Amino acid sequence: MSPKHEILLIEDERNICNFIVTTLKSNDYKVNYALNASSGLSLAAAGCPDLILLDLGLPDMDGIDVIRNIRNWSNVPIIVISARTQEKEKVEALDAGADDYITKPFGTSELMARIRTALRRSTINNNMLLPTQNQYVAKDLVIDYEKHIITIAGNIVHFTQIEYKILTYLAQNAGKVITYDSLISHVWGPFADSNNRILRVNMANIRRKLESNPADPQYIFTEIGIGYRMIDNENL
Ligand code: CA
Repeated sequence: MSPKHEILLIEDERNICNFIVTTLKSNDYKVNYALNASSGLSLAAAGCPDLILLDLGLPDMDGIDVIRNIRNWSNVPIIVISARTQEKEKVEALDAGADDYITKPFGTSELMARIRTALRRSTINNNMLLPTQNQYVAKDLVIDYEKHIITIAGNIVHFTQIEYKILTYLAQNAGKVITYDSLISHVWGPFADSNNRILRVNMANIRRKLESNPADPQYIFTEIGIGYRMIDNENL
């Protein structure tokens, strides 16, 4: 049996905290928790958890500052827990270095899926497998990074250079939400206009080529007000 993954939960609402701790334990994770940011940060530093679940609304410190603090010294995956209406906060959290977010109220299976994805990505990064990994595969879609060829059900589909850049950036971060701003600065450079109209136009073109029904996407999902998430790579 593989050693248990250790998860640190930082959440000030006792009910939610208890619920998550119980859920994680019954899913065979080791759990530590803190009810405020400062004890959370010391537990993070002392315990070296494999993943951190972080509530953004904490009594003693802004959750965004907690992320920035941790990112000064650790790449541990951070999944942010936030309220439904706080789109701006989620974007800030992702741009500050959070790996993902989950919106309250959330279901157990959604939480577990997010945790598995984040842990898997971090294992791959730690083992430095990503640079040698040269294919993305999901359902009928295959992206061959080396040959610069994209096929759907075996047929080559042509993408413009910009479309290819967008698609491969999302694929290389599959399973993770990429904010509009980080996508724009990756594709058009850090000084690009952060107006996302051009991004939306390109995304519409990508979807037309990629999805059999662009209104009901199978590969790239829109996180409204935040960014895009591409379906997990099956080739891992
Ligand atoms: Ca809270």
